[in-house]
Amino acid sequence: MSLIPQRTVTELKELRELTSDENGAQRVAWTDVWQKARKWFATKLVGLPIEHHYDAAGNNWVTLRGTSEKTLLIGGHLDSVPNGGWLDGSLNVLAGLEVLRRFAAEFKGKPPVTIRLVDWADEEGARFGRSLLGSSAFAGTHSIAADRVRTDKDGVTMEDALKRCGVHMDRFPEAEKERANAAAYIELHIEQGPVLEKLGLPLGVVLGTKGVERHAITFHGQEAHSGATPMKQRKDALAAAAKLALDIRNIAGKHPDAVCTVGSLKTFPGIVTAVVGRCEATLDQRDLDARVLAQMYREAQEASKRFASEENCTVEWSRIWSIEPIPFHPQLIELCEQSVRELSGNSHRLPSGPLHDAAEVSRAGIPTVMMFVQSLRGISHNKIEDTREEHLEMSVAALDRLASKTVDWILKAN
Ligand SMILES: [Zn+2]
Repeated sequence: MSLIPQRTVTELKELRELTSDENGAQRVAWTDVWQKARKWFATKLVGLPIEHHYDAAGNNWVTLRGTSEKTLLIGGHLDSVPNGGWLDGSLNVLAGLEVLRRFAAEFKGKPPVTIRLVDWADEEGARFGRSLLGSSAFAGTHSIAADRVRTDKDGVTMEDALKRCGVHMDRFPEAEKERANAAAYIELHIEQGPVLEKLGLPLGVVLGTKGVERHAITFHGQEAHSGATPMKQRKDALAAAAKLALDIRNIAGKHPDAVCTVGSLKTFPGIVTAVVGRCEATLDQRDLDARVLAQMYREAQEASKRFASEENCTVEWSRIWSIEPIPFHPQLIELCEQSVRELSGNSHRLPSGPLHDAAEVSRAGIPTVMMFVQSLRGISHNKIEDTREEHLEMSVAALDRLASKTVDWILKAN
């Protein structure tokens, strides 16, 4: 029996039927619907020559033992955001299942290396605001103390919600033992952006996940009466912030894949009759190259000081969050490119703006690569998220091709 990509599309529709309502997918991690999705997934494993277990962080592992203990990992996540799409995360898992079935059939239950499929717990962080939870426990980058006290919108703590699903946060570090023998990690994902569609390409090779610098920037001026204060004597904090919000286009524009976003501006006192005395802005900057990211951060700081002084204001910065760029493995990128070209006749390399579980796996030192399939209209985290069925099927075949090449690579390297 060989690969049946059509089956993946059929199963994705089954899952959608089971776990969505009129507003989209509702597979939010640590909820009943999510657990229903996982139970449904377990029924798909019946009859396969595999071992199945949940690790200490709630990650869902399917293991097909091979002749060698060296292991190829294939990953995804069944959880979704509220009102999410039908493909984000679940395509990865179900395409991985199809690849696993093909290996099991072709090698009569014993492939040359061990193949493991993982459905990561809580990739989205939709309920507690903490993304990549299960994969960071696996990678050993998770800090329990910071997360156990997080609460959802109803005041339920993360620790209690996980306990309800049989997961005890104290035991998270035990998930690190799943890293044993891992020789490579591959992940297929929808692009969630418009690049491949614009280029007319079904598939793309992901170079890595972009690093992020995220800051709160506060401009201080002087509140003053809007009628009594002459234009030349104002200390208008909004004017300084507005200049920065426009200038980040120039800062990002010097680099082909860089992005900078001022996502929030709050003015104080925020009334119609006062010059803005204080303006709080947020800035999010991303690039795959750490030097570019550092340069953009420096340039934004310099620009903010210049604009503050032009408007007779002052400015202060505080870091909200940051993560370094995570480039994927050069040889696996090469294999991914060959696979994409063999299936679609064409290939394109692109960085990922969103973070993915693959970034955590790569941080753990395991050679990693991701493949993207085109997203229609570039929309995701939305019920209208979609991908052409022929592209979905092609992506399953390309992931399968990549899996075979990676198995050969693992065998050759060891
Ligand atoms: Zn995802």
